[in-house]
Amino acid sequence: MTKLLERIATQDELPDSTSVVVIGGGIVGVTAALTLAERGIPVVLIEKGHIACEQSSRNLGWVRKTSRHAADVPLAQAADRLWAEMPERVGKDVGYKQCGIMFLSNSDAQMGVYDRWIKSVDSLDLGSKLLSQKEIDQLVPGGSGGWKGGIYTPSDGKAEPALAAAAIAKAAMAKGAKIVQNCAVRTIETSAGKVSSVVTEKGEIRCDQVLLAGGVWSRRFLGNMGIAFPTLPLVCSVLSTKPMDGPTDIAVGGPDLSFRKH
Ligand SMILES: Cc1cc2nc3c(=O)[nH]c(=O)nc-3n(C[C@H](O)[C@H](O)[C@H](O)COP(=O)(O)OP(=O)(O)OC[C@H]3O[C@@H](n4cnc5c(N)ncnc54)[C@H](O)[C@@H]3O)c2cc1C
Repeated sequence: MTKLLERIATQDELPDSTSVVVIGGGIVGVTAALTLAERGIPVVLIEKGHIACEQSSRNLGWVRKTSRHAADVPLAQAADRLWAEMPERVGKDVGYKQCGIMFLSNSDAQMGVYDRWIKSVDSLDLGSKLLSQKEIDQLVPGGSGGWKGGIYTPSDGKAEPALAAAAIAKAAMAKGAKIVQNCAVRTIETSAGKVSSVVTEKGEIRCDQVLLAGGVWSRRFLGNMGIAFPTLPLVCSVLSTKPMDGPTDIAVGGPDLSFRKH
């Protein structure tokens, strides 16, 4: 069964002031807080629920380069390096593993897309390759077959969403970040054209800078302040099964279903 997300203990009182307020305790907010704390910059992270209570604990955890635009791949490679270093950085396992990611296709058109993508990243040495049905059967035994083919990148991987954000938040606090949970941020105040404070349910906190990491709520938060932030919310469903044998440790994506080992 899926390991339940760890609830971490944080402080109740809101500090009067800090340098940076991070709004939102998902994977983006906690990683930003950790990085700021490591650099000795005072930071307070404010989360309306609890750490990773939204998509950051419910995603598939894939750490993927496959099918990214060639210009984005160096960033994805940097993410690979950050995830590989994370256990040492936070002193805990975050479930990162280079298990490989495979996408299956049942159309020639999609195989053409994969072929063109592989050519577009040829110089980046990713080790990605197109797969035949026979190779898919060898790597993922027991499937019902019928695929036109697939694409596979062995250096892609996964982390465990249920472990990562809590571990990173704890490390951030150990390095000096302050975290307040169950406290929604209502708005950002400015003074002489610059950020001066953040107004929350528990009062106001003076600060020099704000990092908004509010996930799906960032668009509405900024909309209330008259700032357009055109993001598109998508709804996906994820479920976990009891432990089961096989078929593979590789994370597999199909046209209408994806899975990976937890
Ligand atoms: C089903 C699914 C599968 C996915 N699979 C993958 C994958 O395999 N690989 C991958 O890289 N990504 C995947 N993603 C995307 C990934 O989950 C997100 O990109 C990532 O979690 C975003 O993190 P975040 O910190 O920006 O946002 P969130 O995790 O949404 O965190 C935002 C936090 O801000 C808080 N908040 C919002 N407004 C306020 C406020 N006013 N005051 C205080 N707190 C506030 C929220 O409570 C929330 O905890 C998937 C997403 C979904 C939904």
